[in-house]
Amino acid sequence: MMHSTVVDKQTISSIYQPIIATTHKGIQGHAMLIGGSYGKMGSICLSSKAAIKFGCGLVTAFIPKCGYDIVQIAVPEVMVLTDDQDSCISKIHFDIVPDAIGIGPGLGQDIATQQGLYKFLKYNSIPLIIDADALNILALHSDWLSLLPPKTIITPHLKELERLIGKWNSEAELFEKTIAFSKKHQLIVVMKGAPTYIVYGELVYQNTTGNAALATAGSGDVLTGVITSLLAQSYEPINAALLGVYLHGLTADIAFPETGYQSFIASDIISYLGKAYLSLS
Ligand code: AMP
Ligand code: MG
Repeated sequence: MMHSTVVDKQTISSIYQPIIATTHKGIQGHAMLIGGSYGKMGSICLSSKAAIKFGCGLVTAFIPKCGYDIVQIAVPEVMVLTDDQDSCISKIHFDIVPDAIGIGPGLGQDIATQQGLYKFLKYNSIPLIIDADALNILALHSDWLSLLPPKTIITPHLKELERLIGKWNSEAELFEKTIAFSKKHQLIVVMKGAPTYIVYGELVYQNTTGNAALATAGSGDVLTGVITSLLAQSYEPINAALLGVYLHGLTADIAFPETGYQSFIASDIISYLGKAYLSLS
């Protein structure tokens, strides 16, 4: 039987750092979200909005040109930088230095995007969280995993995880393989599911919040924004993962008496965040 540490309110209260009264946006962390492609700009809108709503001071979205108006209108709090290409990302290049970068929501897997991701990973040293199609691209080119900075956070659901580590025949084998993968590449693996587990080397944490209301489009995109935001606010990567997953799930638990399972959508995770944060203290 695999041993895991339960992540409950008590664990989280030892991680959570309340915001100090004299802070300003310049020291509250700058998160960047990279993603979006034609027809999938909603993902990056959700991630970026989640990032600003989770307390970092500044958020920049790096997107293909076709998404410029969409993101500027959908999330006015977020700054936008665009790729040279219209419909997908090809060259990930910018002159600013964010504190953390989340990459993957709505990214697509165009060949130009794959090449752009490779060049970006080759030269990047900023703390990273990798999700969705960025993970699927890494599954196609597993040698690129060695380019990730240590303690990079990856957030696969089980299908994405299978593409990275291969199939498993039992829960024990799933954890064995995930632990080996985490150790080999020095990654923090957020195994999204019901419940979500967070694996960092031999350490396995089990989250205690969340419910079936989270089984809805865009839910994972919001989680990417949440964890990127916490990473940008200087939380240790493992703490950003634990706190992010816990708060993301807590929004659904708080919302449930008002929304039920069916009418809760990914934007509601963002809306209920204030109540989730307040319930920590
Ligand atoms: P994604 O599949 O990338 O959109 O991510 C879905 C998110 O919702 C993850 O954080 C999952 O852990 C969470 N989630 C999905 N279904 C459930 C469920 N039945 N119970 C709890 N959490 C869930
Ligand atoms: Mg997803």
